Amino acid sequence: NFLSPTYLILLLITITRLISTVGKTEQWKSLLLPEISNKLREDPEAIQGASRDYGNLIHDVPAGVFVPSSVQDIATLIKLSYNNNKVGDSVPCSIAARGQRHSTKGQAMARDGVVVDMARFREGGNGVGITVGGGGGKQYYADVGGEQLWIDVLRAAMEHGLTPVSWTDYLYLTVGGTLSNAGISGQTFKYGPQITSVLEMDVITGKGESVTCSKQTNSELFYAVLGGLGQFGIITRARIALEPAPKRVKWVRFLYDDFSAFTKDQERLISINGSKQKNRLDYLEGMLLMHQGPINNWRSSFFPLADHPRIISLVTQHRVLYCLEVAKYYDDQSEVNVDKELQVLFQGLSYIPGFYYEKNVSFVEFLNRVRSGELKLQSQGLWDVPHPWLNLFIPKSQILDFDSGVFKNIIHKRNITTGPALVYPMNRNRWDNKMSASIPDEDVFYAVGFLHSSGFDNWKAYDAQNREILQFCNDAGIKYKQYLPHYRTQEGWTNHFGPKWGTFSERKHQFDPRMILSPGQRIFNNN
Ligand code: FAD
Repeated sequence: NFLSPTYLILLLITITRLISTVGKTEQWKSLLLPEISNKLREDPEAIQGASRDYGNLIHDVPAGVFVPSSVQDIATLIKLSYNNNKVGDSVPCSIAARGQRHSTKGQAMARDGVVVDMARFREGGNGVGITVGGGGGKQYYADVGGEQLWIDVLRAAMEHGLTPVSWTDYLYLTVGGTLSNAGISGQTFKYGPQITSVLEMDVITGKGESVTCSKQTNSELFYAVLGGLGQFGIITRARIALEPAPKRVKWVRFLYDDFSAFTKDQERLISINGSKQKNRLDYLEGMLLMHQGPINNWRSSFFPLADHPRIISLVTQHRVLYCLEVAKYYDDQSEVNVDKELQVLFQGLSYIPGFYYEKNVSFVEFLNRVRSGELKLQSQGLWDVPHPWLNLFIPKSQILDFDSGVFKNIIHKRNITTGPALVYPMNRNRWDNKMSASIPDEDVFYAVGFLHSSGFDNWKAYDAQNREILQFCNDAGIKYKQYLPHYRTQEGWTNHFGPKWGTFSERKHQFDPRMILSPGQRIFNNN
């Protein structure tokens, strides 16, 4: 509701900050070389766009928005900032790459600094683009600009019958944005997060230096940047490993009324040591169906309409149901085989008899499954609402405690959940501990995502629920990590990285010593 008091107050804050940044923009402009100063936008549309994100909760106003015409422009911008400390009172001058601004807590913003508009860089056709290479006995790969969207990486790779193996649920995110976090989905248990599919990168560091890095060359920068929350450099190119693409996907959902049985089955299915290893699934997730929310949501419509009444009646009876979602890829000819393999894999699962649903879709349709829900919400004006999300990694040994304290207590008691709630396990050995991403110290851990949508006037209730969940975890000694993390204090960040904090901050001093990059994460610029 754009006329709500909260929204009007936010608008007022934005306008006030806009006025106060005019002087800073002038200072920034005087710092820039003539050939790039005309790429700094300061019009209200650009400034307002850069002070909003998908979360719609934080509104940090930048001094300007930089639309590069080349990778060199980005390097020049950072170098000028690195070599100069005369801009305004907020020395040093901060710079944030902004991908699709799909963060939820201002992570791609730069208050009084400059936001580099990677989306416009792409849309202007000036970015690095996408090139597929390799083959002839060597690894296939795609060289992809940090500004590119994963959906376009998929399309370009599919033209060669190839595909990346690790995904996010939603594909309209930039490569630079997801590699700065991890990039997780139902494929992660098997193929690792997206950051583990990267073979090489070009990065512009906080000193404005363009560096090519990989596990072999400049490895410290390579490991720092992957999952590095934008702190060490701007990714301008990533080389992503590709594999032959399957054609079809068998997509199955089962319903459970017992959380313990649900997680036991999830864990069994992701186990990589099982005897059925060869026939393993390619994707596994899980979600809660709660009586507060619709059984189909924007992430996917799956259950046949005719079955809604009996599912709803079951949800009402149990208050919450757990939905296990799996997929197995196959090629046109092998449908009979895939059915047999699935039959074997599904033997002994403890779902509620009769609550088994399956679909057979193309590979691209499966990967792009969230898009139609997004378009529908957009057409209803419900996409750009506040999103007070909370994403956590919970160690396997504590997931039942989490269930009783959070799903069965806090969520139930507050009775406000709107939007998907995801729960699915992954294997730690598919991650690379040298990379910056921080995960629980247990072989198997769960991703739990509360993907709330709220109104402009009631997001605080969701925020309060999120804080209560974190407080519960702290009190119960649940050793969680936040995914897409957001902490308000230095202590929060130190705890988040745990034993990795020393390396993380050393790398910051090495690659971005003036603390220029991605200030919206509030790790080193915690003001
Ligand atoms: P932005 O929000 O623009 O930026 C995120 C951070 O990365 C910022 O700190 C920014 O400064 C930095 N950054 C951006 N580009 C670069 C670059 N080129 N080089 C260095 N740093 C850069 N995540 C998952 O893992 N799995 C999912 O299934 C998933 N689904 C999602 C669905 C929706 C609808 C939304 C809104 C988000 C989802 N996310 C998911 C979260 C998403 O991965 C992160 O929010 C990611 O940061 C978004 O990418 P972006 O391009 O919008 O980045």
